Amino acid sequence: MFDLMGPVQFVKGVGPQRAEALAKAGVRTVEDLLHHLPLRYEDRRQFARIADLRSGMKIAVAGTIAVAGLRRARRMSLYEIRLDDGAGRLKALWFNQPFLKDSLQRGRRVVLFGAVERDAHGGAGLMMASPQWELVEDEDTPGVHTGRIVPVYERLGPLSGKHLRRILSLLARDVPADLDDPMPPDLRARLSVVGRGEALRRLHLPGPDEDVALLNAARGAAHRRLILEELFLFQLGLALRRRGVRQRRKGIAFEVTDRARDAVKRILPFHLTAAQKRVLRQIAEDMKSPHPMNRLVQGDVGSGKTMVALLSMVIAVENGHQAAFMAPTEILAEQHFLTFRRLLSRCPYRVELLSAALKGKEKVEALARVDSGEAQIVVGTHALIQEGVRFRRLGLAVVDEQHRFGVLQREDLIRKGYDADVLVMTATPIPRTLALTAYGDLDVSVVDERPPGRRPVTTRQRRASERRAVLDLVRGEAAAGRQAYVVYPLVAESEKLEDVRAATEMAEEWRAALPGTRVGLLHGRMKSAEKEKVMADFSSGGIQVLVATTVIEVGVDVPNATVMVVEHAERFGLAQLHQLRGRVGRGAHPSTCVLLCHGRLSDDARARVEVMVSTEDGFAIAERDLEIRGPGDFFGTRQWGLPGLRASNLVRDRDLLEQARVEAFRSVEEMESGAAAPLKAFLAEGGWERRFGLAEVG
Ligand code: ADP
Ligand code: MG
Repeated sequence: MFDLMGPVQFVKGVGPQRAEALAKAGVRTVEDLLHHLPLRYEDRRQFARIADLRSGMKIAVAGTIAVAGLRRARRMSLYEIRLDDGAGRLKALWFNQPFLKDSLQRGRRVVLFGAVERDAHGGAGLMMASPQWELVEDEDTPGVHTGRIVPVYERLGPLSGKHLRRILSLLARDVPADLDDPMPPDLRARLSVVGRGEALRRLHLPGPDEDVALLNAARGAAHRRLILEELFLFQLGLALRRRGVRQRRKGIAFEVTDRARDAVKRILPFHLTAAQKRVLRQIAEDMKSPHPMNRLVQGDVGSGKTMVALLSMVIAVENGHQAAFMAPTEILAEQHFLTFRRLLSRCPYRVELLSAALKGKEKVEALARVDSGEAQIVVGTHALIQEGVRFRRLGLAVVDEQHRFGVLQREDLIRKGYDADVLVMTATPIPRTLALTAYGDLDVSVVDERPPGRRPVTTRQRRASERRAVLDLVRGEAAAGRQAYVVYPLVAESEKLEDVRAATEMAEEWRAALPGTRVGLLHGRMKSAEKEKVMADFSSGGIQVLVATTVIEVGVDVPNATVMVVEHAERFGLAQLHQLRGRVGRGAHPSTCVLLCHGRLSDDARARVEVMVSTEDGFAIAERDLEIRGPGDFFGTRQWGLPGLRASNLVRDRDLLEQARVEAFRSVEEMESGAAAPLKAFLAEGGWERRFGLAEVG
């Protein structure tokens, strides 16, 4: 009987030794092996006549070996044959595979597959170098390596691609079409996918009528089934975890009172945009509910998320709870602290900044105020939750991930015993599909509108040789009373001395190039007070051109700034470039972003610059970023690499992810209402908790 869970050792062609090596590559069972998907497929269905071959074709030919010979020269060996198909002869050769003489002997019938090229030594003749080959008795019978649509595999431990093809073609033949399928038939129908047996078979043994292009796009029936199964399982895990969290953990049921409404009105210096109102309503609903809130607020730079967060904190405080606001860096924490204090000046709330700079008595007192509950809104970095800070009644934790899209703090909160609501804000316009994956058990709100008065920003690429034009632009804007940023890239946030020196030199250069213009410098090695002074001078217009390292890339708001010059734009990622550009276009005057590129650009760098020049839409940029970088890299940490995904690719399979999610969440709802056949088989088999690392949360 065919046993999917049987040890791989007993698969024909494997055996104990190879099984051991395969185990190291993570392949233990028959199922594991069947999930080693082909890298791609090659169309080797057609045999060409040798007489019809042209240089550049990639094709299969069949014939009899008319001549064969092994030559050795120095440390090389060359095995050469002439294949005769009755209408012509083709030369084929292999380097350093002397053992071929035992298989490819004169008189044997063989099929070759490879690229046809001009024979450098044979005049007008053609040849194939190192083609794939297969001995056949009769080429009408499709073989393993030729005569069909052939899957191409990546090496797996001790097994070469070709070896794998042989093993898997035999194994796949044994997979029964009616193999046990954990997907209930109605779900299968809704997703319109084939059964598991059929999928596994066709994946490795595509029939002669399959569409090779579809196979290579992973959109053939076999791929669709495996991908949807996997993504469905993953989303089901997320949905269940979400339900579990909601059931097990009790949250705070805040009240949105008239007092809170009044407070909000008093604070607001402007009307909220429709998007801000909508998101605030969603947050308020979450806060009122007795379930803990887990909400992600996405919104482009400057879309007004901070204001929404502040108003949510007001609700918590008006309910007698504390609110924590966690920024990604010390500078940002400071900036937010100042903003909050200014906006809350007409409210009696105590806003506390827990900065790393606090020392001794100051620090002890601040911590005591948090502990006693006297500090109602506490601003700090992400360290707030991790270190020895104790809150009296933490009701709401806002995590501002800015563009760094870090690791969720929720688990930390739970571990500390807080039942606080959690609001994660991200300025990274994460493509929706990825948000669904990484933050799949969060509710997502999108602030998809900008406050009024924003103007489009013109983006230009300039080469270092065009510096004059850039200087002219900055000089002109400064003369017209406007201001400019010049940003210089740094390797890390902890700036090294040589980086600081480079930035300092850059400021000197700009000073020299723009006599009579007030040029300031800001970098991460400066003391807090110095930084604040420079920022204040820039805000007030005292400094006209601010040369800065990337520490300023977020959180600065100077509407009079109309030029953003990014030096070495080729070194910045798309998210960063987008953030930087968001610093201008905030006032009444038209703005320009100049991407100054140095040296030869890599393909990726060129693609990034092109994206920036072509669009200002943060989501479009994020989608392209994802395509250029791939999802693992996008998230920065291995943690988001999702090792559990074997068949799917989050970039390629975005459309299927959406489908899988809808079905998964629907299934969980149906399970809750008792309407659905529970997906027992599916869940039992999946081991989803382990596989996707979803086990211990909640
Ligand atoms: P984000 O946090 O999404 O980057 P902010 O909340 O910092 O955006 O808002 C960016 C700027 O826009 C701030 O100066 C803020 O005061 C202003 N702003 C926010 N909401 C509005 C609004 N509804 N109308 C006018 N200006 C707004
Ligand atoms: Mg902000």
